[in-house]
Amino acid sequence: MKLFETHAHLDLPDFDDDRESLISKCFNQDIEYIINIGFNKETSISSLELAKKHLHIFATVGFHPHDATDFDAELVKRLAREKKVVAIGEIGLDFFRNLSPYTVQREVFANQAHLAVEYELPVVVHDREAHQECYKILKDQGVKDAVFHCFSGDIIFAQQVLDAGWMMSFTGSVTYNNSQLENVVRIVPMDRFMIETDCPYLPPHPHRGKRNSPLFLHLIASKIAEIKGISPNEVAEAAFANAHKFFRIPPDPVKPAHHKAGHKK
Ligand SMILES: [Zn+2]
Repeated sequence: MKLFETHAHLDLPDFDDDRESLISKCFNQDIEYIINIGFNKETSISSLELAKKHLHIFATVGFHPHDATDFDAELVKRLAREKKVVAIGEIGLDFFRNLSPYTVQREVFANQAHLAVEYELPVVVHDREAHQECYKILKDQGVKDAVFHCFSGDIIFAQQVLDAGWMMSFTGSVTYNNSQLENVVRIVPMDRFMIETDCPYLPPHPHRGKRNSPLFLHLIASKIAEIKGISPNEVAEAAFANAHKFFRIPPDPVKPAHHKAGHKK
């Protein structure tokens, strides 16, 4: 199985003890690519640093609604120009925890959505209890490429997201008992979803309570396969192709060709 991890936070201190060995383990197993997600100043910078160390790790930069009051437009603009930055995110609205005032969340989200359009980058959306407001801001800003990370809406909102041409992505929460998400998984077309662990958060069943990592990503593919009545491999392949296209992952640099000395016609 070939897997594309589209949302990890491997730069966080949770991975300080074994970061590099875990990354090697991921790449030695089924993981081929990892998108490491920034959510504030520090993690936007550290995600890019991590991406620069590994050919198949890419970064996103942006200010999460929890960190909206620290928003630094100049920093986002500067980092967005970096080659290994493939999206603006995770950005959005969180009306569940409400760690920043509503007005600031809205303004900062709109601002960054605008920047994404200007820099021609896709958007990784964090939407918690704010479906319609996220939808409206993305529409108002003319965002064409967006993924609703850790999709948590119902089937009606899912249809709205699909109609807008956006993607959704599923975490370990699909493995929890949540019939609403099952219905969404059932209807999402094969070319419109991605998979992610959101590690170290949201470990899939049966690892709840442990630190999550990309090594558990296959469990999410398996659960989606079970709901859709297809093979885990088909899910993994579709999600892989979708992520590759969505994040516009460049081809690997071509290794310099060996000049064959003494080669004769
Ligand atoms: Zn996240």
